[in-house]
Amino acid sequence: MYIPSADRYANMPYRRTGRSGLKLPALSLGLWHNFGGDRTPETQGEILRRAFDLGITHFDLANNYGPPPGSAESAMGKALATDFAAHRDEIIVSTKAGYLMWDGPYGEWGSRKNLLASLDQSLTRLGLDYVDIFYSHRPDPETPLEETMGALDAAVRQGKALYVGVSNYSPEQTREAARILKDLGTPLLIHQPRYSMLDRRPEDGLLTALDELGVGSIAYSPLEQGILSDRYLNGIPEGSRAAGSSPFLSAEAVTPDLVSRLRELNELAAARGQSLAQLALAWVLRGGRVTSAVVGASSVAQLENNVATVRNLDFTDKELSRIEKLLKG
Ligand code: NDP
Repeated sequence: MYIPSADRYANMPYRRTGRSGLKLPALSLGLWHNFGGDRTPETQGEILRRAFDLGITHFDLANNYGPPPGSAESAMGKALATDFAAHRDEIIVSTKAGYLMWDGPYGEWGSRKNLLASLDQSLTRLGLDYVDIFYSHRPDPETPLEETMGALDAAVRQGKALYVGVSNYSPEQTREAARILKDLGTPLLIHQPRYSMLDRRPEDGLLTALDELGVGSIAYSPLEQGILSDRYLNGIPEGSRAAGSSPFLSAEAVTPDLVSRLRELNELAAARGQSLAQLALAWVLRGGRVTSAVVGASSVAQLENNVATVRNLDFTDKELSRIEKLLKG
């Protein structure tokens, strides 16, 4: 029987999500990869238990995470029914709807039909009565935003979600979504953008909009799928995401020019007593502007390395300007 570590809340910082009452751990665990058929249930269970022992209270999912789609929610559902059964109120479970999940015209995008049916399916796989955060996974250019936000509001009113969020929305779409949700009486809790040292698009208006709106943020792929770690400094290792068949990261993305910049960042990290992954995570969390970084891990060792980031989240001005220079090439 799993007994969580007694000092699990000792070291992880918990940061307020925008102007809400909800705090999230500085590091959250994402189940996009490594929680489907690509890892054993034993490894998955080990990673989830270790995460909770290290103070990670937030587990980020979506309907389609796997492979096959849905299997990551089933894996999380198994943990919630066993290891975490006595700890539901200590855990934030997030899920999303919007990407392709089932055949026909209702299996994706942002209609009320898709979102509410998908949430019911997610709750069944997770074995839960409610999720803590339910997201619109991507904006739908064809569905009125009022309908998509109305579906999020309905999920809360039906008791199937406590909070709502949006992901991959532009600054303008986010401002509009927040306005509609405010009118409906269900505030927008959080935005989940892609954000890392190698993808800084949220700095282009989104983070400012979120600050103004009092909405929190959680950065996804903060390690750029593993590129911002020591994983690829000496080639493409077997078993890595870039070596596998993931359509999201190919070996060609790891160019010699990129690796030479990563090596310099790695040296800077070492001078701070950090791994490159720790540097990249601390950088995303710098200044407290982003609430949490949702990181993936294919092993307990990676997870532990990532969580140890919280020992040093501060940067000197000199370090920050050196990083700027390296990132600009
Ligand atoms: P990361 O950028 O954190 O990449 C995770 C990968 O990096 C791991 O699978 C592993 O790769 C490698 N890695 C992690 N830690 C280390 C370490 N310490 N040292 C060396 N390598 C390491 O994030 P993901 O792309 O996995 O995304 C994280 C989460 O963000 C997802 O699980 C999901 O919850 C969310 N997300 C949301 C999206 C959205 O549209 N809202 C889209 C994408 C992600 P390897 O497998 O090679 O070992």
